[in-house]
Amino acid sequence: MKLNFKISFFTFLFWFPLGAADISKPNLIVIMADDLGYADVGFNGCKDIGTPNIDSIASNGVKCTNGYVSYPVCGPSRAGFITGRYQQRFGFERNPQYKPNDPNMGLTRKEKTIAELLAPVGYHSGIIGKWHLGAHAPTSHPMKRGFDEFYGHLGGGHRYMPEDLVIKDSAKAKGEAESYRTWILKNYSPVPPRKYLTDEFSDEAVSFVERNQGKPFFLFLSYNAPHTPLQATSKYLDRFSHIENPKRKTYAAMVSAIDDGVGVLLKSLRKNKLEEKTIVAFLSDNGGPITKNASNNSPIRGAKGDVWEGGHRVPFALQWKGTLPAGKRYHHPVSSLDFAATMVDLSGAKVDKAKPLDGVNLIPYLKGENTDLPHEYLYLRKFDQQRYSVRKGKYKLVIPFPNGKPQLYDLEDDVGETSDLALDKPKILSELNTIRQDWSAQLIEPTFMGLIHLPTRNKKKKRNE
Ligand code: CA
Repeated sequence: MKLNFKISFFTFLFWFPLGAADISKPNLIVIMADDLGYADVGFNGCKDIGTPNIDSIASNGVKCTNGYVSYPVCGPSRAGFITGRYQQRFGFERNPQYKPNDPNMGLTRKEKTIAELLAPVGYHSGIIGKWHLGAHAPTSHPMKRGFDEFYGHLGGGHRYMPEDLVIKDSAKAKGEAESYRTWILKNYSPVPPRKYLTDEFSDEAVSFVERNQGKPFFLFLSYNAPHTPLQATSKYLDRFSHIENPKRKTYAAMVSAIDDGVGVLLKSLRKNKLEEKTIVAFLSDNGGPITKNASNNSPIRGAKGDVWEGGHRVPFALQWKGTLPAGKRYHHPVSSLDFAATMVDLSGAKVDKAKPLDGVNLIPYLKGENTDLPHEYLYLRKFDQQRYSVRKGKYKLVIPFPNGKPQLYDLEDDVGETSDLALDKPKILSELNTIRQDWSAQLIEPTFMGLIHLPTRNKKKKRNE
């Protein structure tokens, strides 16, 4: 026992010499774009939209080529990310309707957000931008869910021009369309519209960093861009005279505004000497809805809403200077579910044993210390359409159409999911199908009605949400 103590004590001194920078409770900044295509950042090969600042996260850190979210539309994907648990475990499997005072129309009180997990170990948390996990009900507002600061909108999207934001009180907005026109909330108070919304969120992110030094923090910079409506100012549109398609041009301008925001935020971290204390991640909440916002998921198949790769494989990169290698490419599948587990592990936060996290601490994997697969399996279920996927290593089982036959793809050879191997590899297909059924048996049915149940929703949208 004594010997063990000595070994661990000296090991401790060896690894953590006195005076070294304390990185045991790193800050976390997650920058999440909304409906950004897989191929619409420079680090994934985009040519017509320059994203030098977003790309710098990949070149200063690790680009994850197989980075997934846990659902191919906004609300459920965010519920998975913010809890670190498959949202199908707790019934958040639809985009919620905007019913501002309905406590069921959002994240259940029974689950904890990253902010709630990190608060007991001294973290200060802020969310800037889109919430989409409930609205004004007592258990729904981000300030009731562990966040110390909120600057953003509660619904699933927002208009970008100040003159469009004409409803002061978001608690009185009726339905999704009106929620897009409300004033922005600072904590609980509406603030008068000021500038192009993406710029406003970027300013607020820099302000958050400037105001919150000296304590560990978690910042969720949740841009609603480039989700529709497609709106941009001439400052950004003028950069894209080379793009003729007006839809793609406005989309490009919106992505460029995010990139500028990422640039000023990274600059602030540099200026304040926080880069070695801060993990900065960039990803999208789901794949690009190609026809709606002119995004591009090439070469992967499908779009937002799909269980094809185009629905849930997203641009995904993270940096942590001094800890993660620079310019590395990581190819094993990783997930947005991993952020909660990473932070719990690094900070010593406690998790309810009855509700284990579905993610893993990514850092040992990205540093190359652990060469195993972070996830033996990654799962997806869309209850309303009975569509599924299971990823294991290079193989993916997919049931792309409601109650359809399982198909099998080798994503290393066939990233575009074009050659169904179901007949060639029946054993693997059968194994993954069993795994799919076992996982599904752990899930519950959705607990609230979604946007798809609104009578005004058109049939095409219903099919894909
Ligand atoms: Ca989205």
